[in-house]
Amino acid sequence: MNETVKYFLDESRIPKAWYNIQADLPKPAPAVLHPGTHKPVGPDDLAPLFPMELILQEVTQEREVPIPEPVREVYRQWRPSPLYRARRLEKVLQTPARIYYKYEGVSPAGSHKPNTAVAQAFYNQQAGVKRLITETGAGQWGSSLAFAGALFGLDVQIFMVRVSYDQKPYRRALMETYGARCVASPSNETESGRAILAKDPNHPGSLGIAISEAVELAVQRDDTKYALGSVLNHVLLHQTVLGLEAIAQLEMADDYPDVIVGCTGGGSNFAGIAFPFIGAQLRGGKTVRVVAVEPSACPSLTRGTYAYDFGDTAHLTPLTKMHTLGSTFTPPGFHAGGLRYHGMAPLVSHLKELGLIEATAYRQTKVFEAGVQFARAEGILPAPEANHAVKGAIDEAVRCREEGVSRAILFNLCGHGHFDMQAYMDYFAGKLEDRDYDRAELAMALAGLPSVAEPA
Ligand SMILES: *Cc1c(COP(=O)(O)O)cnc(C)c1O
Repeated sequence: MNETVKYFLDESRIPKAWYNIQADLPKPAPAVLHPGTHKPVGPDDLAPLFPMELILQEVTQEREVPIPEPVREVYRQWRPSPLYRARRLEKVLQTPARIYYKYEGVSPAGSHKPNTAVAQAFYNQQAGVKRLITETGAGQWGSSLAFAGALFGLDVQIFMVRVSYDQKPYRRALMETYGARCVASPSNETESGRAILAKDPNHPGSLGIAISEAVELAVQRDDTKYALGSVLNHVLLHQTVLGLEAIAQLEMADDYPDVIVGCTGGGSNFAGIAFPFIGAQLRGGKTVRVVAVEPSACPSLTRGTYAYDFGDTAHLTPLTKMHTLGSTFTPPGFHAGGLRYHGMAPLVSHLKELGLIEATAYRQTKVFEAGVQFARAEGILPAPEANHAVKGAIDEAVRCREEGVSRAILFNLCGHGHFDMQAYMDYFAGKLEDRDYDRAELAMALAGLPSVAEPA
């Protein structure tokens, strides 16, 4: 039997439109609220942060949103990304399951994030914006936006969470190579940063704090906007190129997934692979089981509360209804830095409430064990975040073996781990700990959720 099975689409098959799941939802997602008035936000409230095209994409109910030709032109560098059948892994697992994975590590930044970074840079450039400010955790988003900014002639400034800034100098070097300026957060450049440093000069930082710093600076200048790499509807929209391509690739394989697995930090790569399939189901197509996998140290979907909350620590962002651990929650250190966010995308949270997706959480040692097993079978070394999806897919495949049934499992291998070798070295040295989150801190963060009277 042929062991290397790759479904490769011609570049003419790059989707011409993104898929918007809002058009097919049985019940609309709750409104986004103004942080001060608690009234639904209008486009003008968001205008200091984002160009109008992206604001409109946040709320559009159109099923298809055309992908501008200059964006498709950049996508052509690595899209359509390959879809593989994991035959060697199937053999190792002795499973009757058919395992497929979409591989996003082929992008210049090494993950799915450029799918939205390129689109966001394009719309900002079209709107006359000169500078983008953002935050980054492990550095995946920062390097993706730095790459996109370089292509479209935009200055990019990035607040990088302090722990990662110190631990991941190579990601920082990549951002600087693309011409971006990278600052450790909390920093002395903003009021929110200075307030935190005054209390704790050695604060390790968090995504929530870095977002506050980026938003604070972005709203101060007319030529400057903010960019976010996950969570928001327009980001999830841009990532649907993933699932749309996968549908075409599975047609080539003459197959259709019974189960789809993705890892969730803010929810964008998961939405990207899953939403086009869930949409097909909502329009009367085949039913798919969809599983979101998160770290048990930062379990927003499995342990969080579904409530209105802020996206950042300083409470500068609008309020969105989502599964949240509370905006002041700081997860313990673990290696999948891209999954350390306190909240979850409102659309992913909404689908969880509607019963259209499931969620599960794993500890990091189990997740790395799965990643190493995958690398030894398939050759690709996954990012620590992607290892969560690998673990979820392997567990589904083992269940197929135990039940003696063959199901098609599709998962998203959202990035490679070439910048994360310290994490693998720690794993091999037995130094990875499965630290639990602090239950008292979670209770306190949840008690601090804003009290919001929901609009009817
Ligand atoms: C950023 C990132 C994630 C988490 O973000 P999502 O929006 O949940 O996709 C996961 N994996 C990789 C490789 C990332 O860079």
